[in-house]
Amino acid sequence: MLSAMTSMSNKAGTEKSLWERVRLYASALLAVVLLPLLMACEEQAQEQKTYTVAMEATFPPYEFYRDGEIAGIDVDILKEIGRRNNVNFRLEDMAFDSIITAVQTGKVDLVISGLTVTEDRRRQVDFTRSYSGARQVIIVKKGSAIKGAEDLFNARLGVQHGSSGDIYVTEHIKEPERFTNGALAVSAMNAGKLDAVILDNAPAENHVAGSPELTILPTALAEEEYAMAIRKGNKELLDMLNSSLDAMEADGTLHEIIERHMRDNKPEEEKRAESMLGRLADDFRTDFIKNNRWHYLADGFLVTIEIAAAAALVGIALGFLIAVIRSTADLTGKLRVPDMICRLYLTVVRGTPVVVQLLIIYFVIFGSVDVNKVLVAIVAFGLNSAAYVAEIIRSGIMSVDRGQMEAGRSLGLGYGCTMRNVILPQAFKNVLPALGNEFIVLLKETSICGYIALQDLTKGGDIIRSQTYDAFLPLIAVALIYLSMVILLSHLLKKLELRLKKNER
Ligand code: GLN
Repeated sequence: MLSAMTSMSNKAGTEKSLWERVRLYASALLAVVLLPLLMACEEQAQEQKTYTVAMEATFPPYEFYRDGEIAGIDVDILKEIGRRNNVNFRLEDMAFDSIITAVQTGKVDLVISGLTVTEDRRRQVDFTRSYSGARQVIIVKKGSAIKGAEDLFNARLGVQHGSSGDIYVTEHIKEPERFTNGALAVSAMNAGKLDAVILDNAPAENHVAGSPELTILPTALAEEEYAMAIRKGNKELLDMLNSSLDAMEADGTLHEIIERHMRDNKPEEEKRAESMLGRLADDFRTDFIKNNRWHYLADGFLVTIEIAAAAALVGIALGFLIAVIRSTADLTGKLRVPDMICRLYLTVVRGTPVVVQLLIIYFVIFGSVDVNKVLVAIVAFGLNSAAYVAEIIRSGIMSVDRGQMEAGRSLGLGYGCTMRNVILPQAFKNVLPALGNEFIVLLKETSICGYIALQDLTKGGDIIRSQTYDAFLPLIAVALIYLSMVILLSHLLKKLELRLKKNER
């Protein structure tokens, strides 16, 4: 077992060395210019058979975070398959509603995520044989008026977005409220926002064990089977997975793994303090101190800073270039073709939401390439920010008095020289507040990184929430950290502005 564990690299909680970071930034810049080349290079290498696996790791006991690592039934099944076939699996924790797309587009090789076999999904992906049965159950508050499925029609229902529970409820009962994962739906119910949550039985039991006010109704809504999903037509992988599952069933390994996790399927018992302040202190301990959960915030913070800073650099470099091309075209009538390309770029980038751009870059452009997700985010946010920076700088250039250009030229300076030494410095000073604003927006915008399963600050808070069912402290903590970053950034910008003012003679 131990050797199987080492053969498995778990993305969560790995620390990057300084050198790796430097390399990352360098490649981010490169990627902007040499995107196609980079893709070609990344595609080679990979000699050893490593399969990437998508899962949504807030689904105990199948996959969940324990001490910063993903653990659970599905993880142990993979370890066993890896051991038996001498292959590696690399786990990617991602939003549940992305995992089918991920395997369909070849972003990952397989999905194991307590995934229910459904006919609709079968049209998109191939399923292995089933390895576990499950039920969709109803979680309610103890003493609730809801006693069975027939009482659900007028209730406020919560589900996990894109799950089989979501599909069932939407088809047979009513439009539910959709949450990123079941745990968040349960915490919404704890906060009095829902009357019932429809969820798979095993995670439901885990969540209920952690929330003494909740209970599961005895009758289930639907019976289901879990299986792994792979890209259509990948027969070799399908055969390997199926024959391993067959063998593991025959010798009892599968049963043993499932039984062991089902036995432990509850959060640790905790005594709750009586007073408000005592409760808050308790929550603080569970949210941040216990199991070193503060690490999710600290690591996420670093990822956020890394992405925002590198994306800002990409944005400035590219934005500057676009601004100069566009204003040169405006001022001199030259560079018509580059100007047209820049305009098209600005229209597309500013006309589509950044989250859609991020998803396109991740799933489509880097679709079949195994590329570092931090890099993907840097490219996405960098390219996006460049469009805004470009317009800000262009407005700065245009705001510099025409006489400045004429004065420069009449002194015998060339166009480029006047631009560089006379116009741009003044333009930069004029637009500094607007640029600062753009960086603040950029910093906060990176909070959507969770869409491609990057563990940034926001996602770090989400992971804590999904483990402790407490929405209050993790969200406040995340908000405070962003706020402090923005305050610090504004302060630094203000200083820079003052310094530039002083130089004004
Ligand atoms: N079994 C459900 C589904 O496949 C939920 C799975 C999950 O949340 N990981 O839709």
